[in-house]
Amino acid sequence: MITCRGLAYRYKAGPLIAFADMTLPQGGVLMVSGPSGCGKSTWLSLVAALMRPAAGQIEVAGQALAGLSAAAADAWRARNIGFLPQRLHLSAALSVQRNLALAQWAGGQPEDLAAISRALESLGVADLAQRKPDQLSGGQAQRVALARAVLMRPKLILADEPTASLDDEAAAAAVALMHQTALAQGATLVIASHDARVAALLMPRLALPAGLQTMQLPRLAAKSQAA
Ligand code: ADP
Ligand code: MG
Repeated sequence: MITCRGLAYRYKAGPLIAFADMTLPQGGVLMVSGPSGCGKSTWLSLVAALMRPAAGQIEVAGQALAGLSAAAADAWRARNIGFLPQRLHLSAALSVQRNLALAQWAGGQPEDLAAISRALESLGVADLAQRKPDQLSGGQAQRVALARAVLMRPKLILADEPTASLDDEAAAAAVALMHQTALAQGATLVIASHDARVAALLMPRLALPAGLQTMQLPRLAAKSQAA
């Protein structure tokens, strides 16, 4: 479950970015859309407690983010958020398996190689455990990053432009994998994307009562630019 009220953010010397109020139930699926530069990645970073808002409140899975110190936010994020960033940030020096072990360490969990194998298995990349990231194809690297994101069974999965560099077939597979994984774990899923294919791919998967929730961010108005 996510609730945002009165949320706004301003980068240093940047425009004020104000976000509409929203509520997404636990297990729901949200697409955050809008033109490039409208604030999609910013919204994800605020909800992941990677940045603090200039104004407003965010509650994620019962946790008010304003109440977290920086260190507590890091620990909370590691345990509750599965983040699939636009750049995957796999550590180049480490094997796939060690990259996932790092996520367990960050979440304060003892190393659990069986859990790592299961996560890789569920995404069809178990045989890549000993490879380094530069020995993976783009699609394989994305599956590994998704395995890392869901390893701690987060309540919320956040994906930033997950189809950006994918052809139609790979984009469909990526969206299906994210949705299947969220469903299997009872996680809430948020995909930020300017790619119209994502909504088209999600819609038929969501014959749920709630269906697909969308948040369309407007282009930033020129008058909101900082002087
Ligand atoms: P989107 O993900 O929708 O493309 P972003 O959230 O990345 O948009 O950016 C929203 C706005 O904030 C844009 O105008 C962008 O130029 C600006 N912005 C993003 N990151 C920074 C930053 N680190 N410093 C200053 N401005 C930024
Ligand atoms: Mg972005």
